[in-house]
Amino acid sequence: MTKIMTAGPVQVRENVRMARSLVTTNPDVDPAFVEDYKALCDKLEKIMNCSGTAYIMGGEGILGLEAACASLTEPGDRVLVMDNGIFGRGFDGFVSMYGGEPVLYTKDYHKPFDADELRAYLEQDHDFKYATLVHCDTPSGMLNPIDELCPVLAEYGIMSVVDSVSAMFGEPVDFDGSCIDILCGGSQKCLSAPPGLTMVWVSDKAMDAMCSRTTPVASFYANILTFKTYYEDKWFPYTMPISDIMGLAAAVDNYLAEPDVIGRHARFGAATRAAVTAAGLEMYVKEGYSNTVTVINVPEGITDRQILDTMLEDYGIMITGAFDVLAGKVIRIGHMGENANYEDMVETMKALQGTLTKLGVNLQADMVEVFKRVAGIE
Ligand SMILES: *Cc1c(COP(=O)(O)O)cnc(C)c1O
Repeated sequence: MTKIMTAGPVQVRENVRMARSLVTTNPDVDPAFVEDYKALCDKLEKIMNCSGTAYIMGGEGILGLEAACASLTEPGDRVLVMDNGIFGRGFDGFVSMYGGEPVLYTKDYHKPFDADELRAYLEQDHDFKYATLVHCDTPSGMLNPIDELCPVLAEYGIMSVVDSVSAMFGEPVDFDGSCIDILCGGSQKCLSAPPGLTMVWVSDKAMDAMCSRTTPVASFYANILTFKTYYEDKWFPYTMPISDIMGLAAAVDNYLAEPDVIGRHARFGAATRAAVTAAGLEMYVKEGYSNTVTVINVPEGITDRQILDTMLEDYGIMITGAFDVLAGKVIRIGHMGENANYEDMVETMKALQGTLTKLGVNLQADMVEVFKRVAGIE
């Protein structure tokens, strides 16, 4: 069977799959469901150190990004769209779709944003209702220091919308400590549940901003406000996907049961980078390496397709290329969540080593050996 070592969706543990097959109640009318939903949201708030409110919405990760923009944007609002990657830039579409005026803050795609540079920019122009930024821009593997950037935005009274879909539960996130206003996550990345759910964490400030809008939110499904009083009213805006949520609850419990999930990601991220660079391969980013995905430039003389096909046909391991401006230029290994385990990672390194050697790439080190040394034998 194919082993998916992609940057999401990732492998799903059996207890999560089983939780999704349990007998369900009617989530519209059974008060027990409202309690379970609330208890899960409470856990999510605690994990992210959020004194605001977390909500789980029925829809894949993109829904959270759109919901944040739909709920905050009023016609004519200026929004700073921080762009050093494909997902970063993509927020401009959601902002303009809801009548806002996106202002692109475009920087080098090989480096993380710098907090001092951002401050200098805002010194000149800080008339923005909110800013959007991506924690880990998955196609390039760029990790932005949201803990430094969001406080700078807050200094200028600018709210922050952070897409941490591919970083959270693999990289540390401190919602309150970093002054985040809306944090977006998905079920299918580090948390390792199947795709289908969005999680949003909303600060009191962002909720106040939504409540004091003078124009209605131009969406129903993407309107976070419709969830605001679910607990008091025992009423959801639409029928909640209960099996998906039961799977998510099991995945959250898996996360909580493991003492150091963040440390595990750091270890496998470092080992993967050490292996590929020792072999003479080149990382796409030059700083800001994500511990959840490693993005490698395609070596000269071969194509991404050749690598991906050989990995799959000869070793049964699926990794991915990228899309948009990175199409054909890189390959990506997703060592996030359930994928980030010693055995599968060693197998992936072995497959990459064999694949590149077969395709005529002259590797300068044995990636398996380097990976094992840095990750520590298990
Ligand atoms: C995966 C991901 C999303 C969700 O979108 P997909 O449709 O699963 O691609 C959003 N943002 C980032 C940064 C992601 O990695």
